[in-house]
Amino acid sequence: KNPENCESGGSRILVFVRLRPMAKKEKEAGSRSCVKIVNRKDVYLTEFASETDYLRLKRLRGRHFCFDAAFSDSTTQQEVYATTTAELVEGVLQGRNGSVFCYGATGAGKTYTMLGTVENPGVMVLAIKDLFFQKSGKGSYDGNHLVHLSYLEVYNETVRDLLSPGRPLVLREDKQGIVAAGLTQYRAYSTDEVMSLLQQGNQNRTTEPTRANETSSRSHAILQVTELQFVFREKLLTEVGKLSLIDLAGSERALATDQRSQRSIEGANINRSLLALSSCINALVEGKKHIPYRNSKLTQLLKDSLGGPCNTVMIANISPCNLSFGETQNTLHWADRAK
Ligand code: ADP
Ligand code: MG
Repeated sequence: KNPENCESGGSRILVFVRLRPMAKKEKEAGSRSCVKIVNRKDVYLTEFASETDYLRLKRLRGRHFCFDAAFSDSTTQQEVYATTTAELVEGVLQGRNGSVFCYGATGAGKTYTMLGTVENPGVMVLAIKDLFFQKSGKGSYDGNHLVHLSYLEVYNETVRDLLSPGRPLVLREDKQGIVAAGLTQYRAYSTDEVMSLLQQGNQNRTTEPTRANETSSRSHAILQVTELQFVFREKLLTEVGKLSLIDLAGSERALATDQRSQRSIEGANINRSLLALSSCINALVEGKKHIPYRNSKLTQLLKDSLGGPCNTVMIANISPCNLSFGETQNTLHWADRAK
């Protein structure tokens, strides 16, 4: 469970995979599962129908992947939270920033993992709950500590406030780093209000005009939870730590490859922020000195929360459905490179 080989100095990104259950519709349409999870960390991608065939695939390159943990389709929200994010919440209380990303194709389970439902709240809600309870033990705050929430989206390199929709926000560089000018800092008093607040925020995400029933597949939603503390002698409210939780845009078009030529399909459809994030993560993993944060709005906003020892977590969401085989393979390759 603990991040093991966290080399001091270098950046190690913890990479997890979560498989969602087969949807009722997919079952009814006769879809087969093409993913098998073994030992809680090995993922096998198989086009074969037989469950025993996956063992043969062990020797086939590009069909077997190993991650810090792989969550099967029966894993609970609480288990996912406890394994991926609980430690980062501890870190925030001790003054370290951290970030958790959900990456994957549209329909793979990113929003379910991050936001979840009222009955099964996801990582965003469980993290905030944990911050409240760890500090006060009662689920509400004493006067010395505060939790501020901001929730924003990056869509087509435009930044918008999801808690107070309106004009696009301008990014500014100040002493603390890069900030979105005028962004709502919502002061949270209890955990009960948080779910509805975030659900409302999600409703405000940009939907694509051409695919009206497919919500926000190209918008990145970023929740930043900041732990603040009053320093009485200096009468200051200072930041202790910050956790960024990111429901990324669907990866299908940004990194779609032409299977035959293995060439990236370039053009207007490519999501700049997603590509920039990939470059930053690869540079961090390779221990490069220069990290290209400036290339996109997403990476600028997350500059102070990416990198450093063990404070970045990636959850790659995948579908079991054989019709999504290509997307699932792309996601697993991408996640494999982020290790
Ligand atoms: P994405 O945000 O990646 O586009 P969603 O989170 O909206 O995908 O998931 C697609 C559908 O699958 C939704 O109806 C969601 O409720 C369901 N789903 C995803 N993951 C799970 C899960 N682990 N358990 C149950 N249902 C899930
Ligand atoms: Mg979604």
